[in-house]
Amino acid sequence: MSQPAPDLARWRVERGDHAGSVDLAAAEAAACDLLTALGIDLADESTAATPGRMARAFAEMLTPPEFEMTTFPNNEGYDELVLVQDIPVQSLCEHHMLPFMGVAHVGYLPADRILGLSKLARTVEYHSRHAQTQERLTQRIADHLRHSLAAKGVGVVVEAEHTCMTLRGARVPGSRTVTSALFGRLRDDPATRAEFLGLTRTGR
Ligand code: ZN
Repeated sequence: MSQPAPDLARWRVERGDHAGSVDLAAAEAAACDLLTALGIDLADESTAATPGRMARAFAEMLTPPEFEMTTFPNNEGYDELVLVQDIPVQSLCEHHMLPFMGVAHVGYLPADRILGLSKLARTVEYHSRHAQTQERLTQRIADHLRHSLAAKGVGVVVEAEHTCMTLRGARVPGSRTVTSALFGRLRDDPATRAEFLGLTRTGR
């Protein structure tokens, strides 16, 4: 029951899963207007280059690093859960353009292919570099793995602190938002689901 190689490039385009193009010069001009409108003095030596730095900082946070999703044949027939915990997540909330950060726990149940372990972290980083909601980020990481691996199950849990909630508004420092996306046996098989969710709760 070998699965056809997924056409990841086409899937990404269909999902709208590509970086928007960044116009650095326009972003710098707009940052200059925004900061001036917020009453920040850009005539000072220390702040004169701030609009450019701000534009480049946002561009960096919105540019996903491309990577090769290397998979290997599952020659040993390994059929237990593969789980990487505490993968760092740094992203931007699309409602406030303020950072949210935390960790992701990503696991899968292999079928015919296994994944280079670093690729789980790469997938998380790739999808983190967008302005988005935590819910969508979680779903996208899981979808990406599902399409590249044809695994028997995929599970993603993201725990993050949203600075739009801790630095302003409700101001609840330390509050953590937890989201999850489960597919296949990690969703449908109660024992596997419990094992995955139990392992992602360690350390709490
Ligand atoms: Zn927000």
